[in-house]
Amino acid sequence: MSDLGDGTRVVRGGDEPVAPGAPLRPSPVFAAPYHLGEDPYATDFYARPGHPTLRVLERAVGDLDGGECLVFATGMAAISAAVLAVAGAGDRVVVPSDGYYQTRAFGEGELTRFGIEVQQVPTLRIAEVAARGDLDGAAFVLLETPSNPELDVCDIAAVARATQAAGAVLAVDNTTATPLGQRPLDLGADLVLAADTKALTGHSDLLMGHVTASRSERGQQLHTRLKAWRDRTGNGPGAFDAWLAHRSLSTLDLRLARQATTAAAVADLLADHPAATGVRWPGRPGDPSYELASRQMLRMNGVVSATLADEAAVHALVRASDLWLAATSFGGVHSTVDRRAQWGGDAVAEGFVRFSCGIEDTADLVADLTRALDTLV
Ligand SMILES: *Cc1c(COP(=O)(O)O)cnc(C)c1O
Repeated sequence: MSDLGDGTRVVRGGDEPVAPGAPLRPSPVFAAPYHLGEDPYATDFYARPGHPTLRVLERAVGDLDGGECLVFATGMAAISAAVLAVAGAGDRVVVPSDGYYQTRAFGEGELTRFGIEVQQVPTLRIAEVAARGDLDGAAFVLLETPSNPELDVCDIAAVARATQAAGAVLAVDNTTATPLGQRPLDLGADLVLAADTKALTGHSDLLMGHVTASRSERGQQLHTRLKAWRDRTGNGPGAFDAWLAHRSLSTLDLRLARQATTAAAVADLLADHPAATGVRWPGRPGDPSYELASRQMLRMNGVVSATLADEAAVHALVRASDLWLAATSFGGVHSTVDRRAQWGGDAVAEGFVRFSCGIEDTADLVADLTRALDTLV
């Protein structure tokens, strides 16, 4: 599959060989236990360790990432599994200080209770920290690039060289980019993980996450550890969500293309508009992330961030807009705005907004946002 284009891979990935009379896409198989033969392990026997609908989804996502995939019930289930399958008491885990805030909360509120030291490093400083040798002794290093919500980018390959030398496991949270936008395993990471709740499934109708391990020997050992972790803790998704996710995956190429086209137009609009400052989008020439993102990413994401005057300005924008909906999460087919300061987890201004471009017509979204922004000045 790897020599085929993105549009082909998202539709055909995970497919079984075609059988006449079978549906083009397998239907969900709903079962907790299965009928047993004399050898209970010769077939599916119980859905917690795995089931047919999950396996085809894992083949599809693993093919896109270029490794062996395990799907989890949520993005946080995937992140916590990756960390806890690797690190134990006395270990040090490095997480971004400016990434998804629940990852930090998981570190501070849970990992520390088990005697795991959690070190936070800003995305923009991690390559320098790695080059200095300051990741030596760490068991697990998590990058998030582009970071959510400020869209900073770090050099995955540079950090991977340092973690390989230091013996640490390197995982990359690839939620914003998706496997079509960035392939961290090709850049030397051991694990790539994501909240598939966001752009990968993209319809705002389910929660999901995954971890894909590299095909190296070390990656395969990690995959085995992660599989044991998931079997024992039981945080895989059921058949319906797995099927819905696989169905949604088919349009990823088309959705990302529209989202990135709109994001470019929205970033330009915000950059030129007096109601907004600090516009960020890695695909915009002049953006602090632009150079590295252009080198490292295969295509751009559909999320743009910017700062409005204050909280009231964000509420006024949402009231004045017909198409941009107030909602958290991102990467879905609907265009949304999220005032990040309302959640209390990110070190951002009161008027900081994450704009998630959906797949409505670009011209409609730009016209509507222009109208709404004009009411603010
Ligand atoms: C949303 C998100 C997560 C968590 O995903 P859930 O499915 O909500 O658990 C993790 N990382 C990033 C970057 C996210 O945006």
